[in-house]
Amino acid sequence: MSRDATAIDSGWIAANPAPVHKVGTTKNSRGRVLAVGGSRMVPGALRLTGEAALRVGAGKLQMATVRSVALMLGLLVPEGGSIGLPEDDGGELADPGDALVSALNSCDAVVVGPGIGDPAAAARATEAVLRCAESEALLVVDALSIAALRDRAEALKPFAGRLLITPHHGEMAALTGAEVDAIAADPASHARTVARTYGAVVVLKGSDTMVAAPDGALLHYGGGGTGLATGGSGDVLAGAIAGLLSRGASPLIAAGWGVWLHGQSGRRVATTCGPIGFLAREVPAEFPKLLPQ
Ligand code: AMP
Ligand code: MG
Repeated sequence: MSRDATAIDSGWIAANPAPVHKVGTTKNSRGRVLAVGGSRMVPGALRLTGEAALRVGAGKLQMATVRSVALMLGLLVPEGGSIGLPEDDGGELADPGDALVSALNSCDAVVVGPGIGDPAAAARATEAVLRCAESEALLVVDALSIAALRDRAEALKPFAGRLLITPHHGEMAALTGAEVDAIAADPASHARTVARTYGAVVVLKGSDTMVAAPDGALLHYGGGGTGLATGGSGDVLAGAIAGLLSRGASPLIAAGWGVWLHGQSGRRVATTCGPIGFLAREVPAEFPKLLPQ
C-alpha cells in the first residue's frame, strides 16, 4: 500500500457521503443504469451487475446482452428490462450497430464488460458505447472491455470526468503491457499512471484495492476478506459503482463507496455463512443496510 493513500474507512465514508434523494423522487430521477455484456458462456454475469446496481439504489435497470440470453436474463431479473443484441456463432456479442443507441441516450450510467468471454466481442461492445457521442452517461469499463481501451486515450477524451475503469491485476496488465508481478509490487503507481493517461478513475482491484483519480487522489481499501475472491465478485462491484454513479455520485465517491460497500457487505455475509464459500450473488442484499437513508 502506498504511504500517501487515504484509507476508505468509516471516517472517509462519513466525510464523503453518498447521494441521498428527496422524498418523492421517482425511479427515473433516482438513476438509470444500462449494463452491457454477457455471452452464451457466461449468461448470468449481468444478473450480478444489474442486481448490484439496483441494490445501491438505482431506480431503473436495463441489461443488454446476446439475443439467445436476453429473455432468460429478463426473467431472472424481473426488476430490469432486457435488450437482445446480435451475437456471433460462438455466442459472443457481435457488432450491435445502432441497437444500443436509444438505451445509451436514456440512461445515467453505463457499465460494459461483465460476462463477455472474447476480446474481440469486448472490443465491439466497448466501441458501440464509445461511439454514441450524444450520450452523456457516466461509464464504467470492466473485465475484457478494459483491454479494448489500450492506446485509446485520445478517443476517451470526451469521457473526461465521467469514466471509471475497474481492472484486477491481470486486466491492468492487458491494458498497460506491464507484468502482473510489477503491478502487484506497486499497485498505487500503476493505478495513478493509468488514471492520468486515460483521464479515468481507476479501481485497481485486489485484496488491497487502490482507487486513483486523474488529479492524483489515491484511496485504498483492504478490509473485504478472502471470501470476495470468488466468481462474479467483480461483476457485483462494477454494478454497485454504476448504480452509485447513476444516482449522482461523482466518479471518485462512487468508486470509494462501491469498494467499501462491496467489502463491508462481503464481511457481513461472512459472519453468517463463514469466511469463504459465500456466493457473489449473496453480497448485494447487504448494500441497502449500509447506505445512508
Ligand atoms: P474480479 O476478479 O473481477 O471478480 O473481482 C474480484 C473482486 O474481489 C474485487 O473487488 C477484488 O478487490 C476482490 N478481491 C479479490 N481477491 C480478494 C482478497 N483476497 N481479499 C479481498 N478482496 C478480494
Ligand atoms: Mg471481473
